[in-house]
Amino acid sequence: TGEATGLKHLDASAVVVTQSNAPRTPPPSQSLVFGANFSDHMLSIPWNSGNGWDAPKIHPYSPLQLDPSAVIFHYAPSLFEGMKAYKDVNGKVRLFRPDMNMKRMNTSAARIALPTFEGEQLISLIKKLVAMDKGWIPSEPGHSLYIRPALIGTEAALGVHPTKDALLFVICSPVGPYYKTGFKPVALEADPNKVRAWPGGTGQYKLGGNYAPGILPQLEAARRGYQQNLWLFGEEHWLTEVGTMNLFVALKKGDGVELVTPPLNGMILPGVTRDSILHIAKDHVSGKYPIDSLPKNLTVSEREISIHEVIKAEQSGELIEMFGAGTAAVVSPVDRVGYKGKDIKIPAGDGIGPIAKAMLERITDIQLGKVEHEWSVVV
Ligand code: PMP
Repeated sequence: TGEATGLKHLDASAVVVTQSNAPRTPPPSQSLVFGANFSDHMLSIPWNSGNGWDAPKIHPYSPLQLDPSAVIFHYAPSLFEGMKAYKDVNGKVRLFRPDMNMKRMNTSAARIALPTFEGEQLISLIKKLVAMDKGWIPSEPGHSLYIRPALIGTEAALGVHPTKDALLFVICSPVGPYYKTGFKPVALEADPNKVRAWPGGTGQYKLGGNYAPGILPQLEAARRGYQQNLWLFGEEHWLTEVGTMNLFVALKKGDGVELVTPPLNGMILPGVTRDSILHIAKDHVSGKYPIDSLPKNLTVSEREISIHEVIKAEQSGELIEMFGAGTAAVVSPVDRVGYKGKDIKIPAGDGIGPIAKAMLERITDIQLGKVEHEWSVVV
């Protein structure tokens, strides 16, 4: 759109870098708590409706200063991404499918009338930031630098309207493994009265406003002994997502196995991990990249699956695995689902089922550059 209107494009080559004159020492890797520590530098790119994208700035990590009337505080024009940088065995820094995050970020931006940008330009800036703060990437197994790009409306003006000012920023946080002491399957509560997303809504976008309403249901589930919500939708009680992860269910079908995930029907966030698992499963099926530990006779389905189908499969012994999938944990095995006062029991192997395990291994091998793959992008 920049060409037609004369607005400035996001231009990575215009970046202005200010080094921190008070670099800190990253905390010891064993003591990392998710999202609690941030690296020395951050990226900021202001946008204005009359000017377009300003010159990007990489500068010392610092608080933002915003007017109390800024639209972000009132109407939540806010979106974010979550991605990771990994240190590989040779000390090289790698991103995992960053183009997918850029695509999703732009889709989210367009939905809430925030400015879009050229994904390649932001990837190049993120690479620069991550390279500068390379010392903040823990290299122990399962550790990484969590990268949080965000885009917010900042115009100082009340009234619901498209913002004239916005700020894209990126911060980085060193993180440890999601499961510190081996895989521990989670219990989910499926309460049909709590709805995360609906047709025509914003469930498929990574908007800040989608997340605060999920906090109370999670607290309520926790009070009853469940770690996460299994979000259901509609009269059929279709399965949609789990907590802030996509969902996979494995069912016995004759002498084979069907791996099911709900389709991208507008209510499902198009997860990078979800897409990766689908590709890995399909490559196994087609013979392009077979994996010994995956079932020989596997079918892969993006289709609706209801809680009643899951209950039926449990009763007939056909329910073999369930797991969440997302950047934070890669996979998160599920061992029980509470629904209407009863628990559906899911076999979770020795903490993690065989399909989740095969996916975890293949994805982490790619992320860490143990195998060459186009998904892994060297910084
Ligand atoms: N669903 C929701 C609602 C999420 O917030 C996330 C985390 N981004 C995911 C699924 C998983 O997406 P990804 O694999 O891209 O991390």
